[in-house]
Amino acid sequence: MSITITPLNSGMCTSNPKTYHYHPSTHKYYANVSNEDKALPVFCYLLNTGDELILIDTGMSDTDRANTYHHPGSVQLPDEAMPRAVMKAGYNPDDVTKIIFTHLHWDHTFYMKDFKNAKYYAQRKEYEFAMNPIPLYYKSYEYKDLGIEAPFIGVKFELIDGEAEIVPGVRVYPTPGHSPGHQAVEVDTKDGTYHCVGDAIFLLDNLKPVPQIHYDLTPTARFANIVEWWESVREIKRRCPDIKMVLPAHEPTLIERFKETPVLGL
Ligand SMILES: [Zn+2]
Repeated sequence: MSITITPLNSGMCTSNPKTYHYHPSTHKYYANVSNEDKALPVFCYLLNTGDELILIDTGMSDTDRANTYHHPGSVQLPDEAMPRAVMKAGYNPDDVTKIIFTHLHWDHTFYMKDFKNAKYYAQRKEYEFAMNPIPLYYKSYEYKDLGIEAPFIGVKFELIDGEAEIVPGVRVYPTPGHSPGHQAVEVDTKDGTYHCVGDAIFLLDNLKPVPQIHYDLTPTARFANIVEWWESVREIKRRCPDIKMVLPAHEPTLIERFKETPVLGL
């Protein structure tokens, strides 16, 4: 059996197009960049390899926590909490054997401890930064000085340095920039190889060139390291030239696409 991918939306998270999605130098080339917060989905991807279930990220927190500590206006419906979303897709959360984290921000790691039989995979660089972030990223990693506990505290990870095969047909490669140890996941399916790229890009627009200013990409406005970001997104495009095969966590057009195609690689 080949691998299938079931996208699961963990909720709608608000963020600002001008301060998150599009770098200021690109605003005038995108007519639709507004200063009003926009609600974006927070997709996780459930892989069924035939032998095991592997999750990519565990999604955002409940509405209350998201509004109190993160992005006011965000909403998670009860069925969108990741363990419930997995059940709704017809699977048992206890059957998830591995969880691969693209990175360890709050909207990608909640509920991880609810998957009791899973091993957790992250890049070593990401884990080390998450345990000791600079204050600018205290909220992103729910650092203890805020008076809360991040989901990954007290958890043992399988730490990865660079590229690795997790199981046959599922591989990770580093895509730092959005965060110090961000990684993308390649998944071989009947449709070809999908790339679950987390927040390496927020929007598919971030893959587009801006020829007026000689940009081969449209950078985001929020990043830990823009030079690394740029090289990582170039690498994604090099490995995955077909935009249909690139699956970010927050691209809003994916909502409609996944309604039509709820399982990829069937
Ligand atoms: Zn995110």
